[in-house]
Amino acid sequence: MLSFDNSFARLDVNFYTHNATTPLHNPSWIIKNNALASELEISLNNDPENKLLRALSGGQPLPGSQPLAMVYAGHQFGQYVSQLGDGRGVLLGELKTSAGQWDLHLKGAGLTPYSRGGDGRAVLRSSLREYIASEALAALDVPGTRALCVTSGTDTVWRETLEPAAMLVRVAKSHVRFGSFEFFHYSGQLERVKELADYCIEKYYPEITNEQRSQRYISFFKSVIKRTAILIAKWQAVGFAHGVMNTDNMSIVGDTFDFGPYGFMDRYNEAYVCNHSDHQGRYAFNAQPGIGLWNLNALGHALSSLIETADLQEALAEYEPQLITHYSALMLSKLGLVEQQPDDALLINSLLSLMQANGADYTLTFRGLANIESSVLVQQFSDKAGLQAWLTNYRARLKNNDIRKEQRQKHMNEVNPLYIARNHLAQEAIEGAENGDYTELHNLMQLLAAPYMEQPNQEKYAAAAPAWSHALKVSCSS
Ligand code: AMP
Ligand code: MG
Repeated sequence: MLSFDNSFARLDVNFYTHNATTPLHNPSWIIKNNALASELEISLNNDPENKLLRALSGGQPLPGSQPLAMVYAGHQFGQYVSQLGDGRGVLLGELKTSAGQWDLHLKGAGLTPYSRGGDGRAVLRSSLREYIASEALAALDVPGTRALCVTSGTDTVWRETLEPAAMLVRVAKSHVRFGSFEFFHYSGQLERVKELADYCIEKYYPEITNEQRSQRYISFFKSVIKRTAILIAKWQAVGFAHGVMNTDNMSIVGDTFDFGPYGFMDRYNEAYVCNHSDHQGRYAFNAQPGIGLWNLNALGHALSSLIETADLQEALAEYEPQLITHYSALMLSKLGLVEQQPDDALLINSLLSLMQANGADYTLTFRGLANIESSVLVQQFSDKAGLQAWLTNYRARLKNNDIRKEQRQKHMNEVNPLYIARNHLAQEAIEGAENGDYTELHNLMQLLAAPYMEQPNQEKYAAAAPAWSHALKVSCSS
């Protein structure tokens, strides 16, 4: 029996619209996340009358849930769009567990008042892409929403072609976005901005609740800034590109949120644009830190009825140093260096430049560095002399590293993954699932759940992307 406490539904009705789900026909499970289910103290396997299956494919309300579509706005590719909202998903409710509360959101659940001409559905392909990345990032210790299951039915929807429809259950601490604040700010509902800020502080940042009124909103903003800086530092360190960093896709708790045309980088390219629809490269890999700041500026503006301009500016100034500090620490750790020394930034940057020039695989280069004689490292670079020159500097640096070699190697293999959600692997798993064969999907998910541990007979998943995959394109269509 699931137990809900729906605090968002207790807010004023201006924040959402109650909205029933539209069922998929003849539903079946595509994939269940049993590990996450047990964290949530539920079992997806103990479902004799298919009640859970029906509920999680939109067919029957879960007792205690109060499905609602949240309203928000957002800056999309730099342009303000005054009315967005959950156009194809609903917040089912807030699940109570002994460890805390979790939003259960059903994505692809049918039309809502915010569907704006869309069909309210999600396709199997994009639902599985979100499922795969959510769980891959969680295993890499990158904050993000989680995925409990994907269901599908006999329904089809039209994108560029006819595709199977599906639903994903997204599990998150929060579904409040930067764009939620923008909606109320720009529509002049300043009381609601305050109400939403108070709600977020109490629910997600309880450590702030006791602060004086004059301080609490700036503390809230600073906390969001800090979490966002840490989030983006982690993306940059694992080579993850989000693809659509619109302010409606920025979580107020600093989670990776709304996985669309994301990409885990194969060959290192700092200007990597994973979203085929992003013609200007606004959300290119190396633009993410700056876009994070742009989005925080937008949030700051939406909070300007609560926080003085000078305080907003002072808070925003903390973002860049926090991001750099976290990123540097992560990169140092990837190189197996225990304490930062003055030339380390140079060492990291010169490695990245070399990787860029050689099209070296980001993941395999770092994985290979634990053992610098390894063939996997050397294979990444056509400029062998360039690699050897860099390795000479690296070896010299390792002489001033206060850790034994075996320990360093062990540590590096615990922070540099071997298995990542490469585009072509996700594609194969999805194509299999579309044809009713889940072998690839299950195998991939098992490896991504423990991405640092080398498994026997899984060379294919640990290999660089094959040439055919460079042509794979991922667009916003989902
Ligand atoms: P996204 O690109 O998924 O972040 O979505 C941006 C906005 O478009 C949100 O308001 C979504 O709810 C809405 N949206 C995306 N796809 C659909 C769809 N198939 N039907 C209705 N609304 C959609
Ligand atoms: Mg979105």
